[in-house]
Amino acid sequence: SFPVTFSHQNRNYGVVNPGFVPTAEGTPAMFAPPTAEGPSAPPASMFDSMPGYEGTIAGGGGFLPPPMPAHPLPVPEPGPEQPHWTIPSISEDTAREAFVLFASSKCCYSKAPAKDGVITNMEAFNTYRYRLETFNETRSTEWNHEPYKGQPVDAYSQPPPGPWDIPTKTPTFFVDDKDIVKVPYTSSVKNCHACVGMGRKPCKDCAGAGNKVCWVCNGSGYRHGDDRCNHCSGRGRENCSHCQGQGSRTCEVCQGKQQLLVYIRLTVKWTDNTDNYVVEQRSGLQANNLSSVSGKELFRDTQYMVYPVIGFPDPAVVGAAQRLVSEHQAKYSQTSRILQQRQTIELIPVTKVTYLWKGKSHIYFVYGNEFKVHADNYPATCCCSVM
Ligand SMILES: [Zn+2]
Ligand SMILES: [Zn+2]
Ligand SMILES: [Zn+2]
Repeated sequence: SFPVTFSHQNRNYGVVNPGFVPTAEGTPAMFAPPTAEGPSAPPASMFDSMPGYEGTIAGGGGFLPPPMPAHPLPVPEPGPEQPHWTIPSISEDTAREAFVLFASSKCCYSKAPAKDGVITNMEAFNTYRYRLETFNETRSTEWNHEPYKGQPVDAYSQPPPGPWDIPTKTPTFFVDDKDIVKVPYTSSVKNCHACVGMGRKPCKDCAGAGNKVCWVCNGSGYRHGDDRCNHCSGRGRENCSHCQGQGSRTCEVCQGKQQLLVYIRLTVKWTDNTDNYVVEQRSGLQANNLSSVSGKELFRDTQYMVYPVIGFPDPAVVGAAQRLVSEHQAKYSQTSRILQQRQTIELIPVTKVTYLWKGKSHIYFVYGNEFKVHADNYPATCCCSVM
């Protein structure tokens, strides 16, 4: 009633799985008694050879490189004009307000130094962050199965389309996403390997007996000499609660359907791969603080393939752009399909503020669009370890 091809030469297992003896109606004719610990992984013989998908295995993971492009890739070209780069700064008031907020957010910091400290110097250590994003698509296939409930069976009605020719949903650029589809013309029906087509498996808890030794009397039927065990009414055995005394349980692989729909599953993943480069600034503020803040966006360029930014006044940014663009192309164009790239340059404001408090000089930093503050050795803290 359905196309069945079985390999009786199961080289991986050395024996022919007796569960795969085909019969006309799909009912198992001769099979060895299933073991309680039946194989969970389907045998390789379960998977037919599909043209274009020969290397596909169960459990998956193997990505498929995209075919060579039919036309040469377009060579990215430099943009027409480069924007004008300016360097903003913050005011004393902004610095002080940010510092007061910072002090209030700490349970044990007195606000006095932040409020009453006298700012003696403000120095800008503004820096740049170059960011390159490559939005790419990867495709991988694996053999999969699910309980057969009458799904369409289409294997062999025509050759399956190539993995990169299968239509999927349309992703939103730069948003990670995933799509899983059945590869057309690969679905067939096979007897369930886990229960050898029976739909049920012996219960593990009672080894198929349906009952087990009474735990109260340990099988004797009696307690304290002549008292009959009232838990098992003197039988010495009790029904297995896991299988309700039946000795077998519904096979979880085929959900009792006895047959499986076996097919090749295609997994399509869209990933936004991001790399950042922050130009080193010599303010004394650790660069890792800057990853949590945003800056003012000076430049944004979105294309199929970007050309490394040129003409930017800071040569460190230009160098980083060249390095990252070539790294991304080497990394993502071989094993995946690049769909879109985006490069941005942000100016991240960093201000080092020096202030006087009780005759002593201290410093703090205000950075990012968020006016985040970093201050080592804040001068008025009490100990409050109990929180
Ligand atoms: Zn008992
Ligand atoms: Zn049982
Ligand atoms: Zn089964």
